[in-house]
Amino acid sequence: MSERRVFRFAPSPNGYLHLGHAYSALLNFELARACGGRFLLRIEDIDRGRARPEFEAAIYEDLAWLGLDWEKPVRHQSAHFEDYATALERLDDMGLLYGCDCKRSDISKFAASHPRWPRDPDGAPLYPGTCRTKPRRRAREILAQGGVALRLDMAKAAALAGEELSWREHGAAGEGFSLVPAHPTQWGDVVLARKDTPASYHIAVVADDALQGVTDVVRGRDLFHATSLHRLLQRLLNLPEPRYRRHELVLDAGGEKLAKSRGSATLRGLREAGVSAAEVRRMVGF
Ligand code: GLU
Repeated sequence: MSERRVFRFAPSPNGYLHLGHAYSALLNFELARACGGRFLLRIEDIDRGRARPEFEAAIYEDLAWLGLDWEKPVRHQSAHFEDYATALERLDDMGLLYGCDCKRSDISKFAASHPRWPRDPDGAPLYPGTCRTKPRRRAREILAQGGVALRLDMAKAAALAGEELSWREHGAAGEGFSLVPAHPTQWGDVVLARKDTPASYHIAVVADDALQGVTDVVRGRDLFHATSLHRLLQRLLNLPEPRYRRHELVLDAGGEKLAKSRGSATLRGLREAGVSAAEVRRMVGF
């Protein structure tokens, strides 16, 4: 029997959806439909300081207005911290995690005083490793005792994962794929959990895609470099490798990426202004 493919759209309910989300959701929905696959909606609400129930309600309403339909029940990341803790525990068993008490401002200060200090693909200075050599303690203990964050020892992790880490990147038209070499070390010792959010986006997304049997990760090209890190975590945790496909981002009139934080045109704003769902679909090419 041939595989039934599983696609997902995974918004964070910390703002209203905009045209970029409409494009990503429609693309996943249509790709699933075209191959008789499944389409999942996942609410990525691990950031409890920013996630709001009214934004989640708006996600359902806006997607239904666009004509989308998804499997129920919907997975909420906030209900699955135990799954992410299990994944972290496994990394900890491999000796790959350490506690870190540095503040973001300490890291910025350090980077500012070191000319050409390397930055990650998102532009943040790499962690200088200040806490890496502290005596090792168990990850659970560190978080329970008020430690600020858990970091991945990237050099160790990359060495353990071995050579030839890559992913299959499918083209825009979906035909064929190219093998993209993964370069997780460009992220340095990333934070995988914090005291206030006990799982990072990276660990949660990798665990969820595996637990939900996601076969196709189709998302904006702004997450392209994060895939290197996701492949590393998949290899270390012995999780299956999905197909990846990055899509272009919908830009505003000034050529900037749309962002909830900048108040880019939201789907509900367009709807309230009298724009129909069919027009929104056309605006993003569906
Ligand atoms: N939750 C992420 C976002 O809203 C998307 C994650 C993903 O597709 O991997 O940007």
